[in-house]
Amino acid sequence: KLAEVLDKRKKFLNPAMFLYYKQPLNIVEGKMQYLFDESGRRYLDAFAGIVTVSAGHCHPEIVEAVRRQNELLQHTTTIYLNHQIADYAEALAAKMPGNLKVCYFVNSGSEANDMAMTMARLYTGNYDIIALRNAYHGMSPATMGLTAHHTWKYNTAQGFGVHHALNPDPYKGAFGNDGARYAEDVQDLIQTATSGRVAGFFAETIQGVGGAVPLADGYLPAVYKHIRDAGGLCIADEVQTGFGRTGTHYWGFQNQGVTPDIVTMAKGIGNGLPLAAVVTTPEVAQVLTSRIHFNTYGGNPVVSAAGQAVLRVLDQEKRQEHCKAVGDYLLTEFRKLQEKHDVIGDVRGRGLMLGVELVTDRKTKAPATPETLQVFEKMKDLGVLLGKGGLRGNVFRIKPPMCFTKDDAEFLVKCLDISLS
Ligand code: PMP
Repeated sequence: KLAEVLDKRKKFLNPAMFLYYKQPLNIVEGKMQYLFDESGRRYLDAFAGIVTVSAGHCHPEIVEAVRRQNELLQHTTTIYLNHQIADYAEALAAKMPGNLKVCYFVNSGSEANDMAMTMARLYTGNYDIIALRNAYHGMSPATMGLTAHHTWKYNTAQGFGVHHALNPDPYKGAFGNDGARYAEDVQDLIQTATSGRVAGFFAETIQGVGGAVPLADGYLPAVYKHIRDAGGLCIADEVQTGFGRTGTHYWGFQNQGVTPDIVTMAKGIGNGLPLAAVVTTPEVAQVLTSRIHFNTYGGNPVVSAAGQAVLRVLDQEKRQEHCKAVGDYLLTEFRKLQEKHDVIGDVRGRGLMLGVELVTDRKTKAPATPETLQVFEKMKDLGVLLGKGGLRGNVFRIKPPMCFTKDDAEFLVKCLDISLS
């Protein structure tokens, strides 16, 4: 029961683990886009376990694939052959554009970005890394250095050699939606703050934790050119944006017409199982073979079976197209709410990767943080679970399981209208 769980958590779990909601939820069951608390109350889940449950909670085909593999073989590590990891790598590579064909499996987004950073430094022989203000790339010592979001920073020495460029935020950024101007800032940073040679550049293709912030138009093509001219590799963090969630394309970076050198992915890749990957070209993959590399759980038979089932389900159920249709509907409806409620400063995103930013003043764009929290609590009372984020905690993040229907969207909009009123 809730009180008991809360008590044990307080006594035996690290207090750094934060909880959503004044009166926390004790969730005991999940079915597709719905969650159920201990009293049996149903909630519409618009945050998918932080953008992770891609196909839906306890999707039957994924549950069955995991059950079968669990009964057959759970784990050996990669020192013996097993077909699951190979079959999975082949299936995942088939989803990648260009020459991005070689996979390395790990267990979390942080690990994937750690590895990408190591590979970029080894491959180029350079050290400096460029990342973006407002970014979230993980909480391991190395990736905390890439992350540029005060909530997730400790007062330690992480981030040596990492430079943070202006965030190409079309809503609040200095150069509006002019991607090439922000890319010039990166070039300036390379010329003035590094030796002129860089190891790599990291960007989420829509910033997630930072508040569903898309990159200004034309940003990636321009910045990738500057990075490659300086000898660096371009790394796309697709931890939140991958697997068709943005609707128009399978990968977020495709929305800007670029092909990175390294792609990192996690969250939606495993529908909730601990699975993540770094996908590179064969040339970049070679850098690790100068030594051996090892990850105990990475791509074990169970998670590889789950990963294959996720790819299959998302294709069979045409989830990418579905994300586009439901996402477009939500964007239109959110814009109508924006006309009605002055507190909505911005509505943005693609597919089912959306953000609604609340401000106290549309001119100054000052964050309406307490109001955001109030609405967030009210939405829960009405039975809808949202995500929140942004540097100032004033952005709703709407990133539900990809099976979220138009009826669910209608209900969410209706509840948001009531809550804002
Ligand atoms: N990259 C992005 C874009 C993320 O959103 C996250 C997690 N919020 C990570 C990396 C880190 O993933 P993990 O928590 O699995 O280490």
